[in-house]
Amino acid sequence: MEQSIKKALLEIFRLIYEKEGPRHWWPAQTKFEVVVGAILTQFVSWKNVTEAIRNLYSEGAMSIEGICRLSQPRLQELIRCTRFYKQKARKLKEFCLYVRDRYRGDLLLFFDKDMYSLREELLSLYGIGEETADSIILYAAEKPIFVVDSYTRRVFTRLGYFHPQISYRDMQRFFMENLDEDIRLFNEYHAQIDGVGARYCTNRKPRCSQCPLDSICVKSFPGISDGKASAP
Ligand code: SF4
Repeated sequence: MEQSIKKALLEIFRLIYEKEGPRHWWPAQTKFEVVVGAILTQFVSWKNVTEAIRNLYSEGAMSIEGICRLSQPRLQELIRCTRFYKQKARKLKEFCLYVRDRYRGDLLLFFDKDMYSLREELLSLYGIGEETADSIILYAAEKPIFVVDSYTRRVFTRLGYFHPQISYRDMQRFFMENLDEDIRLFNEYHAQIDGVGARYCTNRKPRCSQCPLDSICVKSFPGISDGKASAP
């Protein structure tokens, strides 16, 4: 761990946190709801995800068994507002069938293994990519992995730390090698970066003068673009 980078990362966190306050992530009532949100959130606003989650509750299907019971067309209908809903319905269904069949539907039993074994298992499931797997590991299984995403890439490129084409793995390594392994810090840090990415460091018109990082940002703009719509 390089102490100067650790210090700089903690300063970045402090600056954002002091202005923005706690973000209370992940906004969910249960661990299963975190999983559902993590699967549904890609390429869509969080508002649409909450609508889909509300639909699942109204249907009495917000559980492993509930999703397993639903027909695929009905599941698609309930989460239609989340874009790519056919693929997302398949991802949700396959996740739930897997946990039901391998772990008797017990999410805690599924999570009860070392972090990297859990990550490998999640990544082996249909449609679960690194960001989704890591969000589930950090926010639902509550294990200390650092979640990164397109906002992290954009903000930390503009701050001067990353090359715009840096890989997911290298971004994650950067944080995990330079910060103490701390679930609460990892939880809040990722949430705060996403807040800056969504509110200030937008793709086309960053609002630097209002951004909590304005005083320390080198404002490197290599012209990156991504498909992220919003954060929870
Ligand atoms: S100061 Fe501007 S470029 Fe730097 S992180 Fe904030 S919004 Fe992005």
